Amino acid sequence: MAREELDEVLRYASQFLAELPERPVGWTAGVEELRAALGGPLPEDPQPPAEVIRRLIKAADAGIVGTTSPRYFGFVIGGSTPSSLAADWLTSLWDQNAGLFVGGPAASVVEEVAGKWLVDMLGLPSNSSFGLVSGGQMANFTGLAAARHHVLARAGWDVETRGLQGAPVVRVIVGAERHSTIDRSLRFLGLGTENLRLLEADEQGRMRVDLLEAALGEYDGPTIVCAQAGNVNTGSFDPLRPICEISRRQNAWVHVDGAIGLWVAASEEFRHSTDGLELADSWAADAHKLLNVSYDSGIVFCAHPESHQAAMGVRAAYLIHSDTNERDSMDWNPEFSRRARGFALYAAMRALGRSGIVEIVERCGACARRFKEHLSAAPRVEVLNDVVLNQVLVRFLAPDGDHDARTRAIVKGVQDEGTCWLSGSEWHGMAVMRISVSNWQTTAGDVDRSVEAILRVAQAH
Ligand SMILES: *Cc1c(COP(=O)(O)O)cnc(C)c1O
Repeated sequence: MAREELDEVLRYASQFLAELPERPVGWTAGVEELRAALGGPLPEDPQPPAEVIRRLIKAADAGIVGTTSPRYFGFVIGGSTPSSLAADWLTSLWDQNAGLFVGGPAASVVEEVAGKWLVDMLGLPSNSSFGLVSGGQMANFTGLAAARHHVLARAGWDVETRGLQGAPVVRVIVGAERHSTIDRSLRFLGLGTENLRLLEADEQGRMRVDLLEAALGEYDGPTIVCAQAGNVNTGSFDPLRPICEISRRQNAWVHVDGAIGLWVAASEEFRHSTDGLELADSWAADAHKLLNVSYDSGIVFCAHPESHQAAMGVRAAYLIHSDTNERDSMDWNPEFSRRARGFALYAAMRALGRSGIVEIVERCGACARRFKEHLSAAPRVEVLNDVVLNQVLVRFLAPDGDHDARTRAIVKGVQDEGTCWLSGSEWHGMAVMRISVSNWQTTAGDVDRSVEAILRVAQAH
């Protein structure tokens, strides 16, 4: 049986991927244009699927950002490797409900295998549990939910049945440059942001570990410490070994937000940055960043499976739960029904192999250093951070002294020019251009082309 709508997608996909390296990286249609092309009332009558797909492609194409382009350097957005994309399509085709083993046995086993590969590759404790979640936000949320259970249970309080009303105060110690998803997770968990104890960060955004011992000493109740592997601006790593060692002595749980940086644990070149990683209690990682798995691919790991399951697990009479030999993912995830996101992760890892994964991480690092070298050699251009991973913060100096205005104008100019796409940020109160290299296809040639475009735009400002 011919499936015209699927043929339509396959034809477009081949063309899109072929044109991707040369199509403008930014979008070309504005919001009004997109509303006009996509809007209108819900049709009263059914429309032929192939016709709907053809029109959707035609109307949306100019509003699609080249996030998977080798010259997309905005935020921290990986692309998707061919095997990840293909397995992602299979995920929709099979449409398994991956919450329970009985909703998709192959999905459950694929998760089990991919999770074990990851625990092993990253050097985490071999009995660690894991959950495949939508992204770094939910990985942080899940890790911190396990933490909340664990530190309160140790204080004799069962938070799952009693909630937080009347519970001992849980103190959370974070670095000043933590990611905003940590605060948001604490809001979701009812811990609030007021009980946060902020530790100053150094000039690269790393938690000042010399302040940790004293901060831990201020309170002897349930305590969680949030460390970070890969700062979203500078790429810097908190010193994990001393953080974990000091926290352990005080019975505090350490959660590591490694959305960007956990992957470096696989690389000999970079591994020193995550020294002590295995001493933490929970970890968050994003496969859609440096691993280049399609979106919907965050991962949480936990060194205390029983606390992880106590925080997430669910039982209901109508569900068919597996015996202990089979994995029900809803025991490790905040979701109930969900798509079988393990297929894309599994296929991506299998296709790359350990050496292919390391190669992406190391090439992204090399490309970031190349950006730094070439840009900082140009007149009136400064790179503000130590380029320790994939992030480069650039500032353009203005003759009139308004460096912020010139930097912002150049960021906008580069976005409009189309050779590459990157975004702005603020660092220590200064406007900066923020370059993130995290795509599996980015080469030195892409860096050189992008540097040329950036310097061309800078000259005009
Ligand atoms: C990207 C990122 C997150 C959030 O991850 P999402 O996948 O966007 O939910 C959290 N922490 C850090 C350090 C990040 O870089």
